[in-house]
Amino acid sequence: MTTHRLLLLLALCLACCHAALAASVPLATQQPSYQLNHFATELADPTGRLTLTDILQRDADFQLRAQRLNSHGFSRSAYWYRIDIANPGPQHRRMLLVLRTPWLDHISLYQPTSHGGYRSQQLGEALPFAARPYTHPQFVVELDIPPGQPRYYLRVASQQAFLNPIELWQPAAFHDSDRDWASFFGVFYGALLVMLLYNGFIWLSSRDSTYGYYSLYLLGFFLLNFTYNGFAYQYLWPDSPHWADYAHVSLIYLYLAASCLFVMAFLDTRQRLPRIHHLLRGYLWLLPTGCALSLLSGDRMHYDAVAMAMAAVLPPLVALAAITAWRGGQLAARYFSLSAFAGLIGALLTMLTVIGLLPYSFASFHAAEFGIIVSVLPLAMALAERIRQLREQKEAAEQQAQQEKQQSRAQLQQAWQELSRTMEQRTAELVRARDEAERQARTDMLTAVANRRHFEESAHLEYARARRYQQPLSMILFDIDHFKQINDTHGHATGDAVLRCVADTTSHAVREVDLVARIGGEEFAILLPGIASSQASKVAERLRKQIAQWQLRGEAGPVQFTASFGVAQLQDSDSNYHTLLQRADQMMYQSKRSGRNRVSVGN
Ligand code: GH3
Ligand code: MG
Ligand code: MG
Repeated sequence: MTTHRLLLLLALCLACCHAALAASVPLATQQPSYQLNHFATELADPTGRLTLTDILQRDADFQLRAQRLNSHGFSRSAYWYRIDIANPGPQHRRMLLVLRTPWLDHISLYQPTSHGGYRSQQLGEALPFAARPYTHPQFVVELDIPPGQPRYYLRVASQQAFLNPIELWQPAAFHDSDRDWASFFGVFYGALLVMLLYNGFIWLSSRDSTYGYYSLYLLGFFLLNFTYNGFAYQYLWPDSPHWADYAHVSLIYLYLAASCLFVMAFLDTRQRLPRIHHLLRGYLWLLPTGCALSLLSGDRMHYDAVAMAMAAVLPPLVALAAITAWRGGQLAARYFSLSAFAGLIGALLTMLTVIGLLPYSFASFHAAEFGIIVSVLPLAMALAERIRQLREQKEAAEQQAQQEKQQSRAQLQQAWQELSRTMEQRTAELVRARDEAERQARTDMLTAVANRRHFEESAHLEYARARRYQQPLSMILFDIDHFKQINDTHGHATGDAVLRCVADTTSHAVREVDLVARIGGEEFAILLPGIASSQASKVAERLRKQIAQWQLRGEAGPVQFTASFGVAQLQDSDSNYHTLLQRADQMMYQSKRSGRNRVSVGN
């Protein structure tokens, strides 16, 4: 309603008030219901002590209220209503008087009797539910309306917010309308409970606290709504009027705490909005503090008033959090803001209506229900968006982990390959070095033929082989004649050249299986497997001639040289190669003694 229209209505009502003319309710057979606040006159009793007798004497003080339906807020006064009904017909009419506010504590209805007196009936939440004449979450009582202009009095007092829409209904019409309402609330609460269970199950399976707090929020809203619509008193605690007083206020705190926790969890304020998180946490602490302080005050009227004040603080806080999160780039916050606004603004409108800061209307009183209905859709989208974001984050993290895994696997493989290559190289180098070392250990450095060690090893092996296969084995030993003179005459280098020349010549003169070795300064040996001494002596003779034919250019002119040979063959009596060697040596010395440059053959 716009301000203009509100002011106009206000002015009209004030005008009516001045006239102080209360119209009677004109009963018509067709009209199903009447809003009695438009007809009733009202008298406030601040003492709360006036009786019907007192009231009957103060008929002139009754006034038509300007804002007829609006709440009085929190008031200690008792309010008296005078209702005149015009029954033009000849019959008594049976109608239902309905007081829509389920939390009114004390209600007394005074109906005129045929004897000119008044019959009183007591209702209100201060009485157990069973005391009600009608089983209904609101207060419903039957009016017997005699022909003429009967006058009714109603006294209402409540420690909670004073809102009192009064209606008069044809019974059949009321039952019809009530069925519709029951269906609406059935569907509404059913949907709420389904949402609650759904989110509760998601919470149990995902352990995501957001769903837990959302379930708590829905539970809080459900209990609070169920209570202030009167169902809780009817179904949950029908015999506990005392608890009913506290139920409203406790459930407001539960609802506020759950809302606050849900907002904190959903927007992840701890991580993302630390400042607002402090604010909301402060607010959370304020809730039990406010509750405790109002309880300590011992004045029941403070309980609801403080709770309502606390409730008024939350929507701006939530709006601040949602907008900050939205602007901070939380996509889900966009939907959440819509949802939170709808839910909390609805609750706020209802609350403002209840305490009289907003004019009463069906829409404003039930704004909380509309709000929560409207809030569900964007919130479902917000939760879905949030799931999407979490899934994306998870997928991105998984992808990165996969990439890193692949990368490290590739690196590992590369490192392994490099290591293998290096190891192969090193091994090859080592083998080469070992082979070279071995070769060097078995080779004479100057002449590049086998050295003495190599010769002895081979002689040992060939001896064994010859023995085993019963094959001949011969050995040739030879020593360069007068080598000292060559050194002395032509120099050491020429001596070396002679040695190399002899070794070379010898290597070319023998078979591949024969082994040539330098076993002393200018002394050589040849091992000839499979050959008898007769054959070996021919080899020696050929070699002797070749050596003798060589001529080298030394420092002091041409150098010629000869060598003396000894040949021996393995005998059965030989127990190792040494004796064979000794015999060859003896033969060589025989050649020396016999004049050098010759071959001597032993057995
Ligand atoms: P013979 O005919 O009795 O064998 O007399 P020879 O002079 O050959 O024998 P001798 O044993 O008296 O001398 C051997 C010489 O060989 C002595 C040494 O200086 C020389 N000699 C030993 N090893 C080498 C070497 O590696 N290089 C050179 N240039 N000379 C060497
Ligand atoms: Mg010599
Ligand atoms: Mg010698």
